[in-house]
Amino acid sequence: DHGDGVKAWQVDSLVEHMPLCMRTMHQALRRDQHLRYYGRQQYGLFLKGIGLSVEEALTFWRKSFAKTTDDKFTKEYRYNIRHNYGLEGNRKNYRPMGCQQILSDAAPGPNDHHGCPYRYFSEDNLVASLEGIGIQDRSVLKQVKDDVKAKQYHVACTRVFEASHRTLHGVKSLIGTGVGMESITHPNLYFDRSLQMAK
Ligand code: SF4
Repeated sequence: DHGDGVKAWQVDSLVEHMPLCMRTMHQALRRDQHLRYYGRQQYGLFLKGIGLSVEEALTFWRKSFAKTTDDKFTKEYRYNIRHNYGLEGNRKNYRPMGCQQILSDAAPGPNDHHGCPYRYFSEDNLVASLEGIGIQDRSVLKQVKDDVKAKQYHVACTRVFEASHRTLHGVKSLIGTGVGMESITHPNLYFDRSLQMAK
């Protein structure tokens, strides 16, 4: 929790710091101007974790759902957003989900974009997505595929973190073994660490 107030309009510029799961949902949201329930939950709580207040979250989702009328938005989506901030229903202040919860939550169906891509994407789709975020190194891609086959999804994610930050920021100490540093166990950990390294 940053507490330094990320604004709705800043989210797009922060996507480069997000792990593949959150990037996938963000891209789907931008493309479709919609995101189904589990995606809204996982991505919405993640955004809460990076510092969006409930007001900024309402602005973010309202603008993102550009094809949706105000009336429908108020009826179908507003409550859940406020609920995640503890302002409706049981008033529980929900925390962003960790990888374990995302991995054990409902599996994504054909029109869903939630869940861990390392677990749910086909190999071709995963490789294309990783290439899309700048992971071109064949040996890294091969290692990631091996991690996925061994069901070591968080190791794959940590490896991608290391590879992308080595490329982006010239970090030499993170030798891409996937075990040389604390593993990614939470999407917000990935984000916080990435932001930290960019400073
Ligand atoms: Fe997201 Fe965790 Fe999967 Fe990485 S390992 S893509 S942070 S759910």
